[in-house]
Amino acid sequence: MRFVDLHLHSHFSDGTYRPEELAAQAQRLELAAISLTDHDSVEGCAATGRACEAAGVEFIPGTELTAEQDGDELHLLGYFVDTENPTLLTQIAKFQAVRQNRIREMVARLNGLRVPLSADAVFALANCRAPGRPHVARALVAAGLCGTQDEAFERFLKKNRPAWVPKFKMGGPEAIALIHQAGGVAVLAHPGLNRTDALIPGLVGAGLDGIECYHTKHTPGTVTHYLELAERFHLLATGGSDCHGLNRGKPLMGTVKVPYEHVERLRARAAEIRSAALPHAAA
Ligand code: AMP
Ligand code: FE
Ligand code: FE
Ligand code: ZN
Repeated sequence: MRFVDLHLHSHFSDGTYRPEELAAQAQRLELAAISLTDHDSVEGCAATGRACEAAGVEFIPGTELTAEQDGDELHLLGYFVDTENPTLLTQIAKFQAVRQNRIREMVARLNGLRVPLSADAVFALANCRAPGRPHVARALVAAGLCGTQDEAFERFLKKNRPAWVPKFKMGGPEAIALIHQAGGVAVLAHPGLNRTDALIPGLVGAGLDGIECYHTKHTPGTVTHYLELAERFHLLATGGSDCHGLNRGKPLMGTVKVPYEHVERLRARAAEIRSAALPHAAA
């Protein structure tokens, strides 16, 4: 059986791996295919694609967009997106600007709490266009202001904690449309984490193509639940580890077993989306 990992982050967002490291790990783990799904970024896809080609691993360009619906945060994965699509790149640049401003606001709140972190320290550590809370957490640890990243989230950064700053987010249907117009397949990420089942019918109405059934933080029961939902709504099932680098000394990459057949279905759906977008497709 051949397996794939369709949810990975690199240093172009809040992961730590370089494209070459992702490809080397994929080869070492004998994965048939991987996708890079950085938050609000497609910047690492070209280099990861090249490194995967050299390593004999199939590569699927991807991204993970943050959206919001009825006050709940949703993550939408876009697979097979055209990473040079102008509308996608324009919107991603806006989300990245929002992220950078939010870092400054979070640091200002920390400073108000007499936590002497500088925004420059966070930007230097993040060294990417899509900085996020994990970078603030790592900077707090690096400066000796928190013992661990978990502590940083618990004390300051989790939703409704004192340094948490809400982030502007597009709606779910808008994210799905943005992925589709870039030729991508729209998949709801880790629904078991966001507890957003009630939103799924509406997202399906907006064109959602799939749900991420297999995920590091999904229990076997959760996986079964989402496989059933996928079948009920005629959605594709996907999955991945959501690896951000080393986790307690080991990478999560490859630990979630996703059969290769899901990639074939994703690819077929991407072809349908692209042919539907062509003006003479129906002729
Ligand atoms: P942001 O996009 O800046 O809101 O940050 C969200 C990211 O932070 C997620 O994708 C996770 O990688 C990470 N994260 C969220 N909650 C926690 C937590 N409680 N502990 C550690 N990391 C977290
Ligand atoms: Fe993340
Ligand atoms: Fe996510
Ligand atoms: Zn992720």
